[in-house]
Amino acid sequence: DNPDLLVKTSLEVIEKEDKVLNAFISVNKEAPRGVPIGIKDNINVQGIETTCASKILKGYVATYDATVVKKLKSTGFSVVGKTNLDEFAMGASTEYSSFGPTRNPHDIERVAGGSSGGSAAAVAAGEVVAALGSDTGGSIRQPAAFCGVVGFKPSYGLVSRYGLVAFASSLDQIGPITKTVEDSAILMNIIAGKDENDSTTVERQIDFTQFIGKELPRMKIAVAKQSFDEGVEEGVKQKLEEFVRFVENFGHSVELVDIDEIKYSVATYYIIAPSEVSSNLSRFDGVKYGLRISAEGLREMYEKTRGIGFGDEVKRRILIGTFTLSAAYYDAYFEKAQKVRRKIAMKLNNVFEQYDFIVTPTSPIVAFKIGSVSDPLVYYMMDIFTIPANLAGLPAISVPFGKVGHLPVGIQIMGPRFSDAKVLGFADQIE
Ligand code: GLN
Repeated sequence: DNPDLLVKTSLEVIEKEDKVLNAFISVNKEAPRGVPIGIKDNINVQGIETTCASKILKGYVATYDATVVKKLKSTGFSVVGKTNLDEFAMGASTEYSSFGPTRNPHDIERVAGGSSGGSAAAVAAGEVVAALGSDTGGSIRQPAAFCGVVGFKPSYGLVSRYGLVAFASSLDQIGPITKTVEDSAILMNIIAGKDENDSTTVERQIDFTQFIGKELPRMKIAVAKQSFDEGVEEGVKQKLEEFVRFVENFGHSVELVDIDEIKYSVATYYIIAPSEVSSNLSRFDGVKYGLRISAEGLREMYEKTRGIGFGDEVKRRILIGTFTLSAAYYDAYFEKAQKVRRKIAMKLNNVFEQYDFIVTPTSPIVAFKIGSVSDPLVYYMMDIFTIPANLAGLPAISVPFGKVGHLPVGIQIMGPRFSDAKVLGFADQIE
């Protein structure tokens, strides 16, 4: 209970655990007193390096606090470190970090998930009580599931992205990773709100804790039939079946609903997100931030800096995005993907006319061995259940629900846009 002890203890646990886990890219030994929190290293904290786990930002020190960080600091939180991620948040395992992979506290041979793997592992290992992540296609929820903690992606527009290094701006949202649903709700009350520095934020007064600890009326839950498709691990399917019986015991009604559109979400996302990447990452040119490899001419300088500074996965995305946005292919790919995105969103909204929530596993599989997935397409398919919420701007949470063997399983609960408090309340009840 001694406020000075919290940060001290957190720094001690980090010192001890992080030699193995590698959840942190940098640790703030001078952190002031307060509640220790970890911030994903694509979110600016003034005076500390923002690396995005990339070589291209080498030496870049943030000159301002992200809005979320400013809010946390002014409510008594203390940033004890910046957490590891896949480079520029592109990935689902934190293996694509130029600082090496984060290890899963439940099995150090396995990935922590990603891209916010450092944040999830740090919370799971008790290095911090809470952390922030960013979620473009599942990066808060999937690592939370792999590490057995809670991860919440808010409705698009509720949390300011000012100070978050942009990946795919129409999909990115910052959110909490915590041990309990209640903690996530408390953090949401602090970080949410309209921000003049992010024109996509909306004016909404929401008390995210309003349903925490409350008895909920009978809810209608749609379990997506796609949760039982091939590609979903047997053990994960069993956990979902257990979950269904569990919520039915609470008096809620559950039906299996065919949401066929889910199967188009990965293809749609992997056109839209890289397209936005190719535009957003053009700013890393060796002039404005971090790394510069000197060369004869300007063009050579760009090429060398970007060639050396970006990792393979980031380059792959930039190339895909450059292709999908090019004049000759724009209609065939980007424009079409935008249409499918709208269709997926419409389908989900239709389901919400009859049901309060849509439930799926957060990930079709549990945490896998480091280095065991090498095919990008296999890797991308892991995002199948998390991506729809980003495409439609919906709130979605991953709550731990037991284990397969020694590895945690997360269940995802998705609600209509701006039903964030209800999603948190329901998750709290079944936690
Ligand atoms: N795994 C997805 C990707 O690689 C999602 C990443 C994210 O949400 N930042 O793009």
